[in-house]
Amino acid sequence: MVDAVIEFPSGQVRQKLASAADKRLSGAFTQLRTGWRHDGGLTADRRDEALDHLARVIVKYQAALVEAVSRDFGHRSPHETRLADIQASLSAIRYARKHLSRWIRPQRVGVALPFLPGRARVEMVPLGVVGIISPWNYPIQLALVPLTAAIAAGNRVLLKPSELTPHTAALLERLLAEVFDPTEVAVVTGGVDMAQAVSHLPLDHLLFTGSTSVGRQVMRAASDALVPVTLELGGKSPAIIGPGFDMALAAERIAIGKLFNAGQTCIAPDYALVPRGREAEFIDHFEKATSRLYPRLGDNADYSAIVTDKHYERLLGLIDDARRRGANARFINPAGEALEPAKRKLAPTLLWQVPEGSAVLTQEIFGPVLPILSYLTVEEAVALVNSRPRPLALYLFSRRKADVDFILGRTRAGGVTLNDTLLHAAQDGLPFGGVGESGMGSYHGEAGFRTFSQARPLFRASRFSPARLVRPPYGERIDRMLRWLIGR
Ligand code: NAD
Repeated sequence: MVDAVIEFPSGQVRQKLASAADKRLSGAFTQLRTGWRHDGGLTADRRDEALDHLARVIVKYQAALVEAVSRDFGHRSPHETRLADIQASLSAIRYARKHLSRWIRPQRVGVALPFLPGRARVEMVPLGVVGIISPWNYPIQLALVPLTAAIAAGNRVLLKPSELTPHTAALLERLLAEVFDPTEVAVVTGGVDMAQAVSHLPLDHLLFTGSTSVGRQVMRAASDALVPVTLELGGKSPAIIGPGFDMALAAERIAIGKLFNAGQTCIAPDYALVPRGREAEFIDHFEKATSRLYPRLGDNADYSAIVTDKHYERLLGLIDDARRRGANARFINPAGEALEPAKRKLAPTLLWQVPEGSAVLTQEIFGPVLPILSYLTVEEAVALVNSRPRPLALYLFSRRKADVDFILGRTRAGGVTLNDTLLHAAQDGLPFGGVGESGMGSYHGEAGFRTFSQARPLFRASRFSPARLVRPPYGERIDRMLRWLIGR
């Protein structure tokens, strides 16, 4: 039966299909493909109904989801899970349902005289069977927001959640099975092998969220079958405090953005750029703000743990490397607690006078560690940002229009929030994505709908249009028409 055959362009993966995991994957993919072949995309009514159902199921499982994420992290702030995973997903669903009928509406396009009274329009049609590979740091949002966009666009979806958050992945699988038929949405859980196999599938689109290095591998794998990719990657997002800006306000907002989810946020400020001579002021205000936000760390439900021992060790390694090279460090532990490494709560750490070449200045940090760099002029600040790959986010604290125009005019980042952090990503109406090494393509709101749609041109020919006369044998009649069209 044709539907049961999956043509993997890479011979390597075809061999691996013998394993149980690959059989699961091929079974899931085949069901989605069969659904597509028999019934095409999801109807507009089904999309709306399914998204409504999905929202209700998320609310129903809210407590279990909060619990699952926390088990996966060791500890994850329940409020942060509700804000950034549950509410963010619900908000995306509600936004999509509210705007879907407008997004779907075909756009009429003008028709040139010779083709009248033919009609032309652009229709937004589903792509087919699309894949989503999601990371662990916001394991619900980063699976369900892309899924919402893909369903809003009428696709069938194969989702591979991160292996680092297995409890959440298992719950997502159960939850989605309540809403969707296996011909509409399938969740495949498992390790990196499974994710690699997904990236080799002949999908109609693949949205990957994760690190830049894995993003490269995913794009390479997808290129075998010419699968178009959206890559939502990471990077080093700067927070620039403009000359003359209120330091207390900037430091507090950077602390809030940096310490949310203990810094394990793709758009967390990665490093601060402070006017030279004001570093001590920044350190002082950052420490005070952190102490107000998190008076305790170890037993504070608001302060999240680092997801795994490996990531915890990696962050300690970044701090050690910088200090060995001569950087100064401030560990902010307001209650002076003894933090057990086994619980993976890492004290917010500021680093300054960090020598260039330190790992903390070259690798994405993804934790509560903030190096502070300084600049003398806005030109120097811009040069520092531009000496690194294009970041996913850029934060600028400034009320001086000339500085804002100068810095935004000469830098590129996936998204920008002025005078705060993270908030551009919370706007359903704004596209979200990276540029350069921080990614390609975007989603959220209408951008997500478009990412998972084909803008298909449709021309309806008319029996009466003059264009029907254009056919061989060419002769005087066509010459007259061409003279009229081209001009003499
Ligand atoms: P990761 O790249 O290690 O893994 C992400 C996903 O890719 C996981 O589901 C994993 O199973 C899968 N994967 C791993 N190796 C693979 C391979 N060779 N082929 C195909 N898939 C593979 O990233 P992570 O540690 O889970 O997440 C952290 C990274 O993600 C950070 O760099 C962060 O900035 C980035 N991120 C980006 C966004 C964004 O929206 N741009 C959001 C969250 C996280």
